[in-house]
Amino acid sequence: MSTDDTDGSFGQYGGQYVPEVLMPAIEELEDAYQRYVLDNEDGFMDEFRRRLADFGGRPLPLQRADRLSERYDTEVYLKREDLLHGGAHKLNNALGQVLLAKYMGKDRIIAETGAGQHGTATAMAAAHLDMPCEIYMGETDIARQRPNVFRMKINGADVNPVTVGRGTLKEAISETMRDWATNVEDTHYVIGSVVGPHPFPAMVRDFQSVISEEAREQIQEKAGRLPDSVLACAGGGSNTMGAFAHFVDDEAVDLVAVEAGGSSLTVDEENGVAPNSASLSTGNEGVLHGARTKLLQDGDGQIMESHSVSAGLDYSGVGPELAHLVDEDRVTPVNVGDDAALEAFHRLSQDEGIIPALETAHAFAFLEENPEKVGEVTIVNVSGRGDKDLETVIEETAKRDLDIAPDMSVFEQVGAGALGGQGGHE
Ligand SMILES: *Cc1c(COP(=O)(O)O)cnc(C)c1O
Repeated sequence: MSTDDTDGSFGQYGGQYVPEVLMPAIEELEDAYQRYVLDNEDGFMDEFRRRLADFGGRPLPLQRADRLSERYDTEVYLKREDLLHGGAHKLNNALGQVLLAKYMGKDRIIAETGAGQHGTATAMAAAHLDMPCEIYMGETDIARQRPNVFRMKINGADVNPVTVGRGTLKEAISETMRDWATNVEDTHYVIGSVVGPHPFPAMVRDFQSVISEEAREQIQEKAGRLPDSVLACAGGGSNTMGAFAHFVDDEAVDLVAVEAGGSSLTVDEENGVAPNSASLSTGNEGVLHGARTKLLQDGDGQIMESHSVSAGLDYSGVGPELAHLVDEDRVTPVNVGDDAALEAFHRLSQDEGIIPALETAHAFAFLEENPEKVGEVTIVNVSGRGDKDLETVIEETAKRDLDIAPDMSVFEQVGAGALGGQGGHE
């Protein structure tokens, strides 16, 4: 489509808004992306695919969801990225970039992480490929994402706490950029989504596009045709671009990016807070983390804090290519709130036996609210599994009065104290 991989601009979005000291690293990476990823020099892509299969478990199933298909009177197919090693689509990209770093002769990996999913995937890929790995993570996030910190440490990565600002993803990205600028010779920075300066958005999309490459073939085998729509949740947009890439040229396939509507779409300008992460639906143009894109920002161009019950969607920006595809009317941005996402989390778990990530649950919440909008055959990208979210889900469910909530009184029955004792159905 109207993307341009040679200079990294997607319409008016994208680009390389980085300090001068980073330009040598960016140029070296651009060159490596062209040679190894696009031109398959030294068989890079063959090795990547072999490792995605043997280590990652690909190809992954496209599964018909029987109960949901009945409920919505439409054929619902699930692309099961939750079955990828590590439990989310993140490894497709982390493995690709760590392998690329090896081909580039780098001997040190750094990455940032918010919820810890990307840090975990990078730590796994680095252990697999025998590369030392350091992960920058805000102190607030370290405290609230303990299981993923354990996973990173257990895989042998160093976790560097970032104490500036609010101690979350935004600050962790800045710290990682600083490290990269001082260690460009031997270090590769593995960015976790289709964001950042060129070539990251294009390269991460290419590594993630295996999702739609498989799904496009599988749906034709299973349904005998292309889907009417593809739904994926969008934070930075990497599972989204991965799920859309091989359908972008099929104009008849609707591509729907489901953002986090959080608790409200109304912005608190005074305190610089957006109680949502809907940058495609409500943001406007600006520069963040090296690229021009759609952002949550106030009238003065200050980046606003975002919010979502799902940590992986909680980001003030979005990938530049996705922003462009929205402007071109090729991708439809929609959003659903925290409550609807929680309900959808429980529904998929109870009806299909799949506990989704809270991020993923947003895509299913859109389907629940708009079954008439997806056509006769739809693919939902199951970006990850929900084991990491269980504590949040129990806590957040207890605060609400959801019809579909499971009955957790078993903890009271054994005197263990309710995690969030909540009357369930009946
Ligand atoms: C990180 C994450 C997301 C959001 O990231 P994208 O780059 O927007 O895909 C979505 N789902 C899961 C399971 C994640 O771990």
